[in-house]
Amino acid sequence: MTQEYDLIVVGGGPAGSTAATVVAKRGHRVLLLERETFPRYQIGESLLPATVHGLCRILGVADEVQQAGFTLKRGGTLRWGRDPEPWQFSFAMTPRVPEPTATAFQVERSRFDEILLRGAQRAGVEVREGSPVRRLVADDERVRGVEYTDADGNSRTAYAPYVIDASGNTSRIHGGVGGGRVYSDFFRNLAVFGYFAGGARLPEPNSGNIFCAAFDAGWLWYIPLRDDLTSVGAVISPEHTPAVQRDARAAWRDMIAACPEVSRLVAGVPEATEPPYDQVRVRRDWSYWKKSFWTPGMALVGDAACFVDPVLSSGVHLATYGALLAARSVNSALDGSVPEERGFAEFEARYRREYRVFYDFLISFYDMERNEDSYFWSAKKITEVELGEAAAFAELAGGLVSGDTAVVRADWHTSAAQLDSAVSQLAVSDDRINPLLSAPVVGETFRTGNDLQEQALYGGPLDDPGPAGPDGLAVTPDGLSWVKA
Ligand code: FAD
Repeated sequence: MTQEYDLIVVGGGPAGSTAATVVAKRGHRVLLLERETFPRYQIGESLLPATVHGLCRILGVADEVQQAGFTLKRGGTLRWGRDPEPWQFSFAMTPRVPEPTATAFQVERSRFDEILLRGAQRAGVEVREGSPVRRLVADDERVRGVEYTDADGNSRTAYAPYVIDASGNTSRIHGGVGGGRVYSDFFRNLAVFGYFAGGARLPEPNSGNIFCAAFDAGWLWYIPLRDDLTSVGAVISPEHTPAVQRDARAAWRDMIAACPEVSRLVAGVPEATEPPYDQVRVRRDWSYWKKSFWTPGMALVGDAACFVDPVLSSGVHLATYGALLAARSVNSALDGSVPEERGFAEFEARYRREYRVFYDFLISFYDMERNEDSYFWSAKKITEVELGEAAAFAELAGGLVSGDTAVVRADWHTSAAQLDSAVSQLAVSDDRINPLLSAPVVGETFRTGNDLQEQALYGGPLDDPGPAGPDGLAVTPDGLSWVKA
């Protein structure tokens, strides 16, 4: 049995729903195949303003997300660096973010992801849950479709000129795009995480902040999801693997006990017993990127393409931003306005640039020898804009570095263009800093070799891909496709 579509999307997480919706909005026939039946559990609960106010608006779900009752996140509180006291950053520190949009949410991903998936259905996407993709259909020229098992257990084949793989970090579908995954030497961590049925909240106005606390073994996140639900996770070095394998829950509790700031917040609070929050889960938390993000007929987005350490809550932002870029390339190729090769080159260059900004900043961020001001300076160095130090940090932590006006709203345009060109300069600069390879917490477990990673990441010198560049593609006014600049 065969079916014909314009686009097949593999995976219904934030990346898949974004790509499918953006292409369906242009009237194309889109099939989205999701292995699970939603709602399904996923980690990655702390969002950034660019997702909530930019992407969700493009997808037509911003109001629904606003009204879902998620915890309002104004920024982050960190016990990190030389300063023994926690310090805050607020998204509102960013001058180009209007006050009402200087917020994000802490979300139960089962609920958030379902809002995006149902939004895709409303936009006209044919969504099939309980339908795992088994393999790609490809010939010597290009990827042409997928084989999957439908909800009744039947084997099916679907054909389309484009397949977007948004199937996350564990799926193997990404193998259809050659060139393997490159794993960061620097960010090779282990995450062990679970939930409490409540927990103390930070004083207002920061009660909804993510709290990240460094301690000897690594760092802990503390995310207030509901009054009666708090997500607590430890990001630690792989040397703790045996203890975690022996008893993940005991290891999780030991990590919390070793961090006084977080232990105080959960003192006397019972662990959650409601599914799916009754489990302690473990994830290998390595950062990686594919050597190539596309091949004729197929693109990779979200965790299928790349992943970077979660301390700045960048995962869903990068996943949805990358999906938007890929969907623009598909829309442009389908309507014949931009050749496939050029559109996907733009997608890949912009996506890598955004990833790289987070990656580079995180390296500085992990420098435990630095104090609060130094983090701010690092952010400023990366974005190289005339903003205050605190504002520069908030820019980065707010997921706004893309300078993509469709994501960051039209009224942020002027500064966004400045940022965009500054980030482009950074992308071609060989003045790289890597101050953290001797950081006490991570030094022993991480090897040097950042230069090699960067070469692998870019495959050589990077031409300026952005809209400011002479050959770069610009974005159409509706934000849904490319146009020749
Ligand atoms: P996913 O959300 O994983 O969705 C992929 C979907 O594809 C799934 O629904 C899966 O069922 C489906 N699928 C898989 N295989 C197939 C198949 N063969 N056929 C059909 N469907 C398939 N990000 C943040 O923004 N904030 C955070 O605070 C944060 N914290 C994190 C903490 C940790 C420890 C880790 C590891 C990650 C964290 N992240 C965070 C990152 C975040 O989890 C991911 O970046 C994000 O979920 C990626 O979205 P995605 O759509 O690419 O993939």
